[in-house]
Amino acid sequence: NALNQRARDALVLLLDAYGIDPSDPATNWIAGNLVAGKGETITLLDPVTDLPLLTYRDAGAACVSEAVSAATTAQSEWMALSASERGRRLQAAARGLAGHEDELSRLESLIAGKPVSDCRGEVAKVREMFEYYAGWCDKQHGEVIDVPTTHLNYVQRIPYGVVGQITPWNAPIFTCGWQLAPALAAGNAAVLKPSELTPLTSVLLAMLLEHGGQLPAGLIGIVNGLGHTTGQALTAHDDIAKLVFVGSPETGQRIAEAGARRLVPSVLELGGKSANIVFDDAALDDAIGGAQAAIFAGAGQSCVAGSRLLLQESLLPEFTTRLARAAEAIPVGLPSDDATRMGPLQNAAQYRRVHELIDEALAQGATLLTGGKPPGDLPAEAAEGYFLAPTILTDVTPEMTIANEEVFGPVLVVMSFRDEQEAVALANATRFGLAGAVWSRDTARALRIAHQLRAGTVWVNSYKTINVMSPFGGLGESGYGRSSGLDGLREYTLPRSVWVETAAHATAAMGYGDGQ
Ligand code: NAD
Repeated sequence: NALNQRARDALVLLLDAYGIDPSDPATNWIAGNLVAGKGETITLLDPVTDLPLLTYRDAGAACVSEAVSAATTAQSEWMALSASERGRRLQAAARGLAGHEDELSRLESLIAGKPVSDCRGEVAKVREMFEYYAGWCDKQHGEVIDVPTTHLNYVQRIPYGVVGQITPWNAPIFTCGWQLAPALAAGNAAVLKPSELTPLTSVLLAMLLEHGGQLPAGLIGIVNGLGHTTGQALTAHDDIAKLVFVGSPETGQRIAEAGARRLVPSVLELGGKSANIVFDDAALDDAIGGAQAAIFAGAGQSCVAGSRLLLQESLLPEFTTRLARAAEAIPVGLPSDDATRMGPLQNAAQYRRVHELIDEALAQGATLLTGGKPPGDLPAEAAEGYFLAPTILTDVTPEMTIANEEVFGPVLVVMSFRDEQEAVALANATRFGLAGAVWSRDTARALRIAHQLRAGTVWVNSYKTINVMSPFGGLGESGYGRSSGLDGLREYTLPRSVWVETAAHATAAMGYGDGQ
């Protein structure tokens, strides 16, 4: 298969440039070295052809221990530097990516099956994240609490030590940078396990950051392997002080349980079933563009995907007809082509699950407006790839499985509402609470609705805008805790309250000394 051969050749060249031998790839970054795993063999399949791309070995518990131990030492060195020096080093780490953006983007595109143009954007975001959090290093400070005059009480913000991070396959390098940057800026070391399906860009990112920033060797550890081996070893490790997880609710629950067993806190960034509400007074061209980007960007494999389109009744059927035409015009194709806006799904299991959910929806009475099958104009060699055309289902009712489950694919369900009250009720009828949007030219109405949505992020006349400066996270089955912004930084520190006696004689009492 010529396409698969081309992908394998490109992969060999990319890995070779970083000193990684594709026949026995070292897929872990431990103590400042590339290290091969010794566990079971994992084969990556090419999302474009369903043929093998690369085989590597699971890191396993031994690699996790080595990475955590190196991270522990590195974290002490890191904290021995001044805050401003840590900031300078993280700025330099960000600059360390310069000249590598294209390689990282092409590698991400090959393995994750994402359009290379999307990958370029995500790599640029990683650089921004490091620049942003580098700026926080010397601006974090504690505070003095105004307790009675017998004492001075001040609160320091201290790092946890070594944090454990686990990330999914849909945006590997983005999620890796997203969690590493605040962790390091807050003074921690991090050991991160990427998805076993997308191991490589996180390793190269760690290598480039450590080299570029002259970071203590081991400050970033990347361990690649399966969830129930390497992932579990990381969550169970005694020296991991906090767990940060990005992935599905089912695994998130397991991570939180593993944390609970050791009484370490967790942050969970999980899935969603976000509502995109359009009123009949919306700017319709904008709303159509927004609805399309909301669900079809990343082939719907996005936690914030606007997967439930809620239309005011009078907009039916014109809005859906126009949206279907727009969806059919999206260039779906090979991820390596610059013109491609939607690639295949990332993996076979996800591809099967998306088809099962579509079939179930049709069996429950939904109507297929467009999509449901691979796009027509793919090269013959991509026939076994995980391609699905943008798919829109109408006649969906709130009880249907497809209206409730996260599909994590390019599948939009359309429902309608009569008035504001019904719109809010429909939007909030979900176990998730990650994001939502409202489209209306009536600002008061738009804000009235926005403020009633149970979601961590709400857009007004927009969708998917994010920025590292602004907090992001969910509620309900979308998880808890926040990433990005100052809130994201704060997740990586804990307060230490220090009491200093300032009275002439100690005021310690048998009861609760309250400084009286
Ligand atoms: P997943 O839960 O299957 O896997 C995520 C990670 O957990 C992988 O690295 C996996 O190896 C690891 N893992 C699995 N079992 C484990 C265990 N027992 N112990 C430790 N680690 C284990 O998720 P996925 O399929 O990779 O990603 C898709 C999901 O991620 C979707 O639900 C999506 O919405 C969510 N997601 C959320 C956000 C967010 O910010 N809220 C961002 C991206 C993706």
